[in-house]
Amino acid sequence: MGNEPSHPALDPEDWSKLRQLGHQMLDDMFDFQQSRLEGPVWQPIPDEVRQGFQSPLPADIQTADQVYQRFKDEILPYSTGNTHARFWGWVMGNGTPLGMLADMLASGLNPNMGGGDQVPNLVELQVIDWCRQMFDFPEGSSGLLTSGGSVANLIGLAVARHHGADFDLRRDGVAAAPKPMTMYGSQEMHSSLDKAVELLGLGLNHLRKIEIDDRFRISTEALRRQLEADLAAGFQPIALIGCAGAVNTGAVDPLDELADIAEEYDLWYHIDGAFGALAYLAPELRDRLQGLSRADSLAFDLHKWFYLPFEIGCTLVRDEQVHRSTFTLRPDYLHEGARGLSGGKRWLSDYGIQLTRGFRALKAWMAFQVHGVELIGNTIHENVLQAEYLAELVEASPRLELLAPVDLNVVCFRYRPDELDSDKLDEVNEEILYRLHESGEAVPSGTHVRDRYALRCAVTNYRSRRSDFDALVEAVERMGKQIELEAD
Ligand SMILES: *Cc1c(COP(=O)(O)O)cnc(C)c1O
Repeated sequence: MGNEPSHPALDPEDWSKLRQLGHQMLDDMFDFQQSRLEGPVWQPIPDEVRQGFQSPLPADIQTADQVYQRFKDEILPYSTGNTHARFWGWVMGNGTPLGMLADMLASGLNPNMGGGDQVPNLVELQVIDWCRQMFDFPEGSSGLLTSGGSVANLIGLAVARHHGADFDLRRDGVAAAPKPMTMYGSQEMHSSLDKAVELLGLGLNHLRKIEIDDRFRISTEALRRQLEADLAAGFQPIALIGCAGAVNTGAVDPLDELADIAEEYDLWYHIDGAFGALAYLAPELRDRLQGLSRADSLAFDLHKWFYLPFEIGCTLVRDEQVHRSTFTLRPDYLHEGARGLSGGKRWLSDYGIQLTRGFRALKAWMAFQVHGVELIGNTIHENVLQAEYLAELVEASPRLELLAPVDLNVVCFRYRPDELDSDKLDEVNEEILYRLHESGEAVPSGTHVRDRYALRCAVTNYRSRRSDFDALVEAVERMGKQIELEAD
């Protein structure tokens, strides 16, 4: 053994230097956040930057200042861009400056949120309970904060499968099912539900994708037909999945009617409300989600339409016993103590897949108190008004076409002037999307709506103003015309 080092190995040799760098980082990130009303939304990655990320495992040590400089030069300018006022691609939140600070505090404190008698656990339990109250779930419901909606859906469906099995599923697995178990949802379901059903061993064929009506909502008639056919054919229907805000168009299934059907057929009722559920916070929008609080499990994200930084989602479960018995597992080394740190009544590792968990609860706990549900609800309502405004701009333009009704905050549209052949439309619109991204003017994403290529804006952006949507429409028309000219 050599001499013992004069300071703990990974602590800084000179605290005052790291402190100074830390203050610099904080100032820089405030500047970054403050500047996100202007400048390019996204920028293509220069080749030399891309190559810089293929270097081998570092042998030579650099200073924190040097590596931070690389962050500023090579990482910060070439990120997703969802912090910007003109970002509406896929479904992403901006992240708040307060959330950024909370994540720093959480990382600095670095508690393990698997369990134990410590206040950070109480913070998460309180956040879950506040979520329960905000969605009018009954007292005694349980829940878990997750990495996002995908895992929130997986947990909800895992509880559903456990609940639906009248044999020892945990010991014997799905292979022991006397009849194949089936789940039901609309064709517009999010891909994370496909993945969940695959992982749960049910097989994708047993996730019945029911046809939709002209407003992209599940057809309850077709659903009933499928349920009856499956029962007659010897399947065991166990769960019904409702979409509160389908990812493609924002369509909301008839949630109340689905709750009735779930009762009638004795199905677990899971709602995927990744972004849409949050519209419940706006009194003006609540009617559109009638039936939401009747779910047995509800999955939603706080990093989309609650605007927190990634990652944070949540599953709420009406029946705490079923939730817990799906996941609880206590080997000797995780024994719950009578006293001391290993005490504490509720271990969050009993409610999900992870043992070690991060303190993502803190940013939500702070947001609930500093911003409040009312302000967030108002901001969500403003986003819906902005989506409706964009839809009006599209409908007012002779060169643009709306491709789906706007139920919440998602607008699907395309460039479609009279003179353009319809077989060219997909190609031209896809090209418009790339030019929007590459010029940094705006970031919608692309999708297909009833087999037509669509530019798609999901407005979960608290920084957007109406002028940003004016600019988008102007850019789409300008780029469309330009592409037509180039083709001539
Ligand atoms: C985004 C989304 C998900 C997945 O959530 P992640 O947070 O991305 O894991 C699931 N369902 C819907 C409707 C979504 O929009």
